[in-house]
Amino acid sequence: MHKRHALTSTSFLIGLAAGCLLGVGYPMAVSEAACPPIGSNGWHANSVVYYQTTGFTSQELDQVGGGGGLGNWNFHNIFPLSQNCSNVYFSAAPPTGQYTISTNSGYSQLKPTAPAETASNTLSGFVVSATTTFYWGAVYSGNIPAWNRDGSPGYYSFLRKVTLHEAGHTMGLFDVSGVQQVAGQSVMNGYYGTNDVGNNMPINVQQCDDDVVSSIPQYASNCGIGSGGGGCVNLCGGGGETRSCDLVVIAAAIAR
Ligand SMILES: [Zn+2]
Repeated sequence: MHKRHALTSTSFLIGLAAGCLLGVGYPMAVSEAACPPIGSNGWHANSVVYYQTTGFTSQELDQVGGGGGLGNWNFHNIFPLSQNCSNVYFSAAPPTGQYTISTNSGYSQLKPTAPAETASNTLSGFVVSATTTFYWGAVYSGNIPAWNRDGSPGYYSFLRKVTLHEAGHTMGLFDVSGVQQVAGQSVMNGYYGTNDVGNNMPINVQQCDDDVVSSIPQYASNCGIGSGGGGCVNLCGGGGETRSCDLVVIAAAIAR
C-alpha cells in the first residue's frame, strides 16, 4: 500500500486550493483520512428522486441502478435503517426526468479524464435536477483509457464505483482533493488506472461519506442532530465554500 507522509509545505497548501477532480491521478501523499467537502445542499431531505437511464446494457444497469450504486445510496439514506440523515430515495419508477443518467462514446471536452460527469441544477443550493453522463472514451492519462468495457468483474465494479461518485455529487458531496485521498475512504475519491485497477474508489458508500452528508444543515436537522458522528470530522460550515473549506481541513490535518 502506498505510504503517506505529513504535509508541511505552505506552497503545497496553495496548490491544493485548485482542487483535484475525479480522474486527475493517484494521490501522491496525504497526512490522514480525508472526507469529501460539501458541494451543495443535495436533494431535499425526505424526497424521492425519480431517475431514468439510457444507453446501458442490462448487466451494466445492474451496477448503476437500484441493485448497484443508486441502490447502495438508498441503503444508506432511507429511514429507519439509514446510516445518514438524508432519507433521499432514488426511484426508477415513473415519473422520470428528475435525474437522467446516460452514456456517450466520446470524452468530455471539459475534462477528458472524467469517466463520468454530473451537472446538477440547484435552487437556493438544493439540487432539483441533475444529469450524469458516462464517457466511455475518457482517458486516464496519455493513451490509457479510463474504461475497458471487457465485461470483467473490474469493469462492472467500476460502473458501480462511478455511479456512487456521481450520485454522491447530487447528495451534496464534492471531490476529495487528490493529495488528500486515502484509498477506499470515500466514494468521492478519484480513480486510479483503467477501470480503477488500483482500487482507489470503494464499492459502497463509506462512513466518511455518510458523516459529511449528515453534516449538511438540512440533513442534520432532519435527524435532529448537529452533525454526523464517527471518525471523520467535517470542518465545513455549509455549502458554497468548497475551496476555503479544503484548506481548513488540510490545516487541521497538519496540526495533528
Ligand atoms: Zn467528482
